[in-house]
Amino acid sequence: MNYKNFPMVPRVIFGRGSFNQLSEILAPKRLNSHSPFIYLIDDVFKNNAWLTSRIYLAYDDRIIFISAKEEPKTSQVDELVEDIILSSKERPSGIIGIGGGTLLDLAKAVSIMITNEGEAKDYQGWDLVKNPAIYHVGIPTISGTGAEVSRTTVLTGPTRKLGINSDYTPFDQVFLDPELTKGVPNNQWFYTGMDCFIHCVESLNGTYLNAFSQSYGNMAYELCKDIFLDNNLTEEDTQDKLMMASWHGGMSIAYSQVGVAHAMSYGLAYVLGVKHGIGNCIVFDHLEEFYPEGVKLFKIMKTTHNITLPQGLCAGLSDKELDLMVNIALGLEPLWENAIGKHWKKTITKEKLKALYKKM
Ligand code: NAD
Ligand code: ZN
Repeated sequence: MNYKNFPMVPRVIFGRGSFNQLSEILAPKRLNSHSPFIYLIDDVFKNNAWLTSRIYLAYDDRIIFISAKEEPKTSQVDELVEDIILSSKERPSGIIGIGGGTLLDLAKAVSIMITNEGEAKDYQGWDLVKNPAIYHVGIPTISGTGAEVSRTTVLTGPTRKLGINSDYTPFDQVFLDPELTKGVPNNQWFYTGMDCFIHCVESLNGTYLNAFSQSYGNMAYELCKDIFLDNNLTEEDTQDKLMMASWHGGMSIAYSQVGVAHAMSYGLAYVLGVKHGIGNCIVFDHLEEFYPEGVKLFKIMKTTHNITLPQGLCAGLSDKELDLMVNIALGLEPLWENAIGKHWKKTITKEKLKALYKKM
């Protein structure tokens, strides 16, 4: 047995208002006055002085507001990197991503591509990154994806949706300030929160499970039950707990893998552009066969929070589109192996997935 030696986020600050310490924590990391800090911020915060007034720009530091309407693309990363290199006198001191999974993944990818030649699509896969990334900081403003702890940055490229998985991907510093999540709309809160719940279900029911993943997975699973089933929590408690659930859920899959919902949700994302959180919910709703307990709880949570998921998404798809969707899902072999076992190909056929997609 050859065990993986995983990197972890070396520094994390937790607490409501911890965002106020941003400039103090960044200051020693400034290389020189020509080396700016570049802030990639979700454009939902564009006119939000409560957040932006706490960012102190010095020398050539810059804020780039980015829309999270679409999930990050490799071409978008390449454009950002070119813009940053052309507009900075010297290599930046650091990249700070502020937002949800979309902005966190962009920040990770940009920090890698500043020091690695070629295009982002060349690095989609496992351990293809050659040079360490520049200093990068992740500040989540919505909880659930675990992107703040993970060793991957998920990008849609010309031929596939696949992460840049590498030892250089994890953030050097993370801020966990639950207060930053206060403005998240209810539906989105649920979808991204369910991403975390689904990470736990897929990890805890997978064949890759081990005590490392299980301990984190159980913690996050219990937190999700408190958050999404117990109506007696205060808003602050809910925010604090979901931020930690996201972290533990991410840690759980670091040493195991996700499963059926993620594999199929990637297909929906690639062909229809359905975003990760809602896509996982749409798929998971139909996975009783694989995750009976988890799906039962999920349906109760859905009702508790008045969530209605879109229906009939795949009804109008052509055979060609359905085939592409199925192929994208089946291509994620480690996810199926984790979910079903080594011999997954015996039971998971194209026809089976097509029939499942047609229900969505
Ligand atoms: P997101 O980043 O797309 O954000 C969802 C929506 O919430 C956006 O409209 C955004 O503007 C809004 N939002 C965020 N914070 C807000 C706030 N405080 N107030 C108001 N609105 C706010 O969604 P997400 O679910 O966090 O992330 C999805 C992305 O994460 C996908 O691209 C997915 O591939 C990726 N992902 C990555 C990993 C990883 O390990 N790297 C894991 C899971 C998912
Ligand atoms: Zn996920």
